[in-house]
Amino acid sequence: MIIQPKVRGFICTTAHPLGCAQNVKNQIDYVKRQPSLKNGPKKALIIGSSTGYGLASRIVTAFGAKAATIGVFFEKEAENKRTATTGLYNSLAFEKFAKQEGLYAQNFNGDAFSDEMRQKVIAVIKEDLGQVDLVVYSLAAPRRTDPKTSKVYKAVLKPIDIPYTNKSIDLDKNEVVTVTLPAASQDEIDQTVAVMGGEDWELWMNALSNANFLAKGVLTVAYSYIGPEITNAVYRKGTIGAAKDHLEATARQLNKKLKAVQGRALVSVNKAIVTQSSSAIPFIPLYFIILAKVMKEKGLHEDSIEQMYRLFATKLYTGKPIEVDEGGRVRVDDWETREDVQAIVNKLWQQVDSNNLKEISDLEGYQEDFLRLFGFGIPGVDYKADVDPTGQVMGIEGLKKI
Ligand code: NAD
Repeated sequence: MIIQPKVRGFICTTAHPLGCAQNVKNQIDYVKRQPSLKNGPKKALIIGSSTGYGLASRIVTAFGAKAATIGVFFEKEAENKRTATTGLYNSLAFEKFAKQEGLYAQNFNGDAFSDEMRQKVIAVIKEDLGQVDLVVYSLAAPRRTDPKTSKVYKAVLKPIDIPYTNKSIDLDKNEVVTVTLPAASQDEIDQTVAVMGGEDWELWMNALSNANFLAKGVLTVAYSYIGPEITNAVYRKGTIGAAKDHLEATARQLNKKLKAVQGRALVSVNKAIVTQSSSAIPFIPLYFIILAKVMKEKGLHEDSIEQMYRLFATKLYTGKPIEVDEGGRVRVDDWETREDVQAIVNKLWQQVDSNNLKEISDLEGYQEDFLRLFGFGIPGVDYKADVDPTGQVMGIEGLKKI
């Protein structure tokens, strides 16, 4: 099968197994070119490990610190003429590359919000690792089924209190448009907090703690975003921001509990990058393409792997006390939020319209990054070759046979 990108707005419905594997390899190679992590983790559980920040965290811990990793993710397998989702190919490739280097790697594909998944993971930790010394919580999900009540919560991306209007980008037409989002209801806010807040993170940590599987000095880290004034109404002051506030409050709660094992819970505020989740947030892609242009010109551009390497190597595992801000958070959005960067972004935001979009933003870079998420446009991959979406590609075995 010749696999080509099928893009609609912020969604690509196909993924290229070879391209995804190459993408993972490129990230591994980046980490190998950096100094290895001093005092890095040895046994890591990564929840949300198949794409974006979770995948990069897994690659950094495995190839930067030689950690054994267990990855949990929710991805679709190939079926009939449909390819698997990108995170499945990424995870299979990761597992293969890790094992080639003698590193322990286990994948769990299924619902991380379920007690069943917690039990499966705990059984494998018991059998294979004994304990974990790092838990990364990097889920980004549109809905969550409550494991106790079976109620399904849905996340929405809306402002709170008043509607919000600003510029955005129509990704099908590459035009700057004006978008108005209505204010969320209290129920929508509560449901978004239930999906993207810290409740599930706490359930995972409780389950691991009750089973006595948290190593002395364990670190757990979840990811957050703050962002600039431009996206404030829809992000940090919106429904997703309410969920991030809850996540940060959960870190404070977990810190109290983790004292018993001299452990620590942290939230890291990361920079905006192109991922499947961030592309779906209104206003963010337009902000991002302007930001990327400015950060590239200033030599400050980072993708997920550079961000996660910087987080682990220069913030979390330095052998020195971890530096946090006044809210107790680690900040790797420090370059994005620099005054000189934001001053230019603000100026360009005022100017941007459909006519000058290509010139004053990094639209082309965004399109390349977006396609790369799905394994397309990656140098060295022969996209004209007939590939088997079910497996046996680039030596990747284990994909579902159809
Ligand atoms: P992503 O979409 O690339 O990855 C999400 C991961 O969650 C995938 O591995 C997916 O399989 C997994 N997942 C989703 N639902 C699941 C379920 N029910 N069970 C198991 N796994 C499930 O997302 P991302 O952008 O890397 O975001 C990860 C975290 O980083 C989020 O908390 C996000 O808010 C935060 N963050 C993202 C950005 C950004 O710009 N992308 C910036 C700062 C912080």
